[in-house]
Amino acid sequence: MNILVTGGAGYIGSHTVRALIHAGFTPIVVDNFSRGHRNAIPSDVKVIELDIANPKIINVLRDNNIKGIMHFAAHSQVGESMINPSIYYENNVVGSYRLIESARQAGVQHFVFSSTAAVYGEPEVVPIVETSKLQPTNVYGRTKLMIEDMLHDYSSIYGSTYVALRYFNAAGADESGEIGEDHSPETHLIPLVLETALGKRPHITVFGTDYDTIDGTCIRDYIHVTDLASAHVLAMNYLVGGGESRVFNLGSGNGFSVKDIIDTAKNVTGINIPVEYGERRKGDPSTLIASSDCIKDILGWNPKHSELSQIISDAWRWHRLHPSGYDDI
Ligand code: UDP
Repeated sequence: MNILVTGGAGYIGSHTVRALIHAGFTPIVVDNFSRGHRNAIPSDVKVIELDIANPKIINVLRDNNIKGIMHFAAHSQVGESMINPSIYYENNVVGSYRLIESARQAGVQHFVFSSTAAVYGEPEVVPIVETSKLQPTNVYGRTKLMIEDMLHDYSSIYGSTYVALRYFNAAGADESGEIGEDHSPETHLIPLVLETALGKRPHITVFGTDYDTIDGTCIRDYIHVTDLASAHVLAMNYLVGGGESRVFNLGSGNGFSVKDIIDTAKNVTGINIPVEYGERRKGDPSTLIASSDCIKDILGWNPKHSELSQIISDAWRWHRLHPSGYDDI
């Protein structure tokens, strides 16, 4: 069965392409390569260089007999979205609208959408459940929520079906060490800590030590990218099998502080990573932990790689083998 993967050259998209192949699907990648990496995609996968907003997508969907779409293509940096919101509205909201409309015109019925915990904003209660209040505190989260709303409306009015997966903190890398996280600029904690271990950065700065948490630093729920990828495959199988439209959280259910991450990275790498303590980063909620009971109960999802030491050691393998990311491949 042919599945279109938008943004298949990106971090989570490229891991999902591998998971789809493994599960017997045929992924076809559409990417505009504004941020993705061509060599993150296996050489035997069909790649079409195209923007999701381009109406030629309708022909791509028809000509390739696409049965479902996994939609990753998006800008995804919270900080950037608060400085340059126009590219988030253009690329994420307008681009997704055009893609969803192209799918309708081509008769593609199923969407698995890459959403985010940022749709919840500062939670009132943790662990966060899918029915928690949706009050994003940044433009990135708002654009993802708008896309969820579009999918909901198309589903209830035109009859297509979708699963929106609200990810918590995606991290780690494929255990082969062949693909991994390579953002430019990098803003995420785990890759920054590991780049510091490699000597590419002088120190890691901890953003805030006065949060109301056990050690004063922020707590997040880190989930292995391979476990995220397997959830996408389960979601597509569920939709193809007649499942109704749904939203699921995706996290490990465990919270780790910034200090926990640095300490685990020191253990995994055997390197004494230099640390500086700085101010809070604007807009950072103190604690984000997911309840993923829904996706476990309904799709039978079972995270297998999301022990923190495994997440960090898989990420470390990728960073050690490719210290300049995809430029080394
Ligand atoms: N963080 C940090 N130093 C950094 C980058 C991130 O202390 O250089 C903290 C950040 O404040 C947050 C956690 O690490 O509490 C995870 O941040 P990340 O950007 O990886 O993901 P987010 O939770 O913002 O999606």
